Amino acid sequence: MLDDYILVTMEEPWALLKPKLKNQPRDIIFNRDMQVEHLESLEKERKKAKWLVGFGGGTSCDTAKYLSWKWNIPLIIAPSIISVDAWLCTSIAVRVDHKVRYVGDVQPSRILVDYSIVKQAPKALNRAGVSDTISITTALGDWLIARDTFHDKFDQKVFDEAKKIVEDLMKQAKNIKVVNNKGIDALVKGYVDEVRICEAWGNARPEEGGEHFLAYCLEDITHGHYLHGNLIGLNVLVVLKLQREKAVFKVEALKKFFDEIGIEYAPGKNGIEREQYKQALESVQAYVKREKLLNGLFSLDRVFDEMGDCSMRGILEFINSF
Ligand SMILES: [Zn+2]
Repeated sequence: MLDDYILVTMEEPWALLKPKLKNQPRDIIFNRDMQVEHLESLEKERKKAKWLVGFGGGTSCDTAKYLSWKWNIPLIIAPSIISVDAWLCTSIAVRVDHKVRYVGDVQPSRILVDYSIVKQAPKALNRAGVSDTISITTALGDWLIARDTFHDKFDQKVFDEAKKIVEDLMKQAKNIKVVNNKGIDALVKGYVDEVRICEAWGNARPEEGGEHFLAYCLEDITHGHYLHGNLIGLNVLVVLKLQREKAVFKVEALKKFFDEIGIEYAPGKNGIEREQYKQALESVQAYVKREKLLNGLFSLDRVFDEMGDCSMRGILEFINSF
């Protein structure tokens, strides 16, 4: 039993955990703000304990990782929801000027996933947990572009392993939709494999590409907070289309999968205006260059056609048809 610990969480997961706890934490940190200045003030103002426990979604897990790293105390991570892969990644994501920055690494002493707790989170949030495994679909096309146009390092074995993660995940659509044990197994396994592959490879190449960069670019423009899985879902459809013959998966197959599991990828459902998305599409190439992100679709000089499906107008019409 943990004798002396600080808990990092949010109000909703805390309400689930509180009645189950025998030993109360020394202190509870409720955090929603991932700006680095705010995290630094938490680090200075709060007193350390022997242990740090992160319990919640991505924000709670990343806050806990940050504080455990800064304070150099052991960490236990327990996701209350499977919506992003933050609870498995050792890298610590914070925001600097509303942009994602990875500031350090931490290895949790233990990771606990309580399925009974995960099932109590809204289904839509858990389903959106396909985000960081399904982004493999477009990351792989970007990898082909990076190999063929920019002569980036490539490994067929890693590529095939990543592709298989998505194929396995897509077979579990029915279970993911209802978030039953098999569905949670599939989400967790997808994440475990994806994180393992990326950490062995040395960066997020097998999992992250244009779909994420377009999301970061949009967030940079609007400073909006979007449900990661929904926004990545939308961007996966757009990027697959724009990858043309380099796309490793079919747009229709992914759209069907999202519809089957109930991912809300329509921009209107996520508070994204047509004009904002257009701006993101227009500036993403410059953004990728400026932020020195991995080579891929948006590193190409020409991404859009003058006319047709892959023109700016064609893409905007495509996403507004959802
Ligand atoms: Zn992500």
